[in-house]
Amino acid sequence: MNAYRWEDYVRRVEPYVPGEQPSDENIIKLNTNENPYGVSERVKSIARELDYDMLRKYPDPKADMLVSAISDYYGVAKDEVFVGVGSDDVLAMCFMTFFGSGRRILFPDITYSFYPVWARLLGIPFEEVPLREDYTISPEDYGVENGGIVIPNPNAPTGILLARDQIESILINNQNSIVIIDEAYIDFAGAGASVIDMINKYSNLIVVRTFSKSRSMAGIRIGYAISNNRIIKYLNDVKYSYNSYTMNYPSIILGAEAIRDEAYFRDVTEKIVKTREEFTDRLAHLGYKVLPSAANFVFASPGDGTAREIFEAARNDGIYFRYFDSPGIDDYLRITIGLPEDMDKVIKFLTIHKSIVK
Ligand code: PMP
Repeated sequence: MNAYRWEDYVRRVEPYVPGEQPSDENIIKLNTNENPYGVSERVKSIARELDYDMLRKYPDPKADMLVSAISDYYGVAKDEVFVGVGSDDVLAMCFMTFFGSGRRILFPDITYSFYPVWARLLGIPFEEVPLREDYTISPEDYGVENGGIVIPNPNAPTGILLARDQIESILINNQNSIVIIDEAYIDFAGAGASVIDMINKYSNLIVVRTFSKSRSMAGIRIGYAISNNRIIKYLNDVKYSYNSYTMNYPSIILGAEAIRDEAYFRDVTEKIVKTREEFTDRLAHLGYKVLPSAANFVFASPGDGTAREIFEAARNDGIYFRYFDSPGIDDYLRITIGLPEDMDKVIKFLTIHKSIVK
């Protein structure tokens, strides 16, 4: 018998664990940073008119309608836009395309937990750079030799924003490395926080965005990267070597309409920011330590070691938060900003829970 056993050669990985997607509609779901407002009437009306015959055909491999809408919106060229199946797909493509040097890539030690998963999957060495004591990113710490850098801005799960000049200092100090700024939550950070306008000033910059948060379309799976055309070409070359029809027909059409509907986007984003600020105050009033958030969630600690217990009690009451059992953040809860009435229920729950425990 052949001594070869396929199972000895399986690529064994420790997968990313996505937040739970419960089917019960009554659950107040504040665990995956979805947008509570849903898609706009304009997007719904296009959805109702979708041409079903188009489902028979392969979609446009270039997703031109979507790429054009994104390029018009940001005032960049079409060849400066890359689209993918959520920003997870775009980020994975970036890791695959640019991080093959064998040198360690850098990202914060407390950050989006998918980064180390892709790095392990693709055999990319990495170093997790510690945050400062106050959970902020220290740009100077990214001045060491590396094979690439990934920074979410605002960071997740902290929600803390890094100022543009600090990002710029990282770009300046690393001109020979690709620097990915994952701006999944930047639309909640106020005007002028994004570094998209720097793509032609720094040829090593890739900005990654998503439709899952501020565009209320996590279910349609659209993400995109904006960078100079050389970088976008490299990304497309890898994409076409892997899966050429990534964007399906409904996502191309509906995504393009969503990005054109500026009024709805502004309205929803403003509402979420307002609710976030009110909720932050109320949590602080309850004695929570709340990190300053520029995102559509807050990262808050009861400060007495009970975060896990609160997470579980809330879950039993039909309120879902996200809890990370990791060093340094195991007394924190990540709470997505939902509708104002959802946050009222959260405050009510936390208030009752506190009085029972005391
Ligand atoms: N980046 C960050 C920082 C995130 O929190 C998320 C959401 N889990 C993503 C990227 C991926 O989002 P999506 O694939 O839905 O675009």
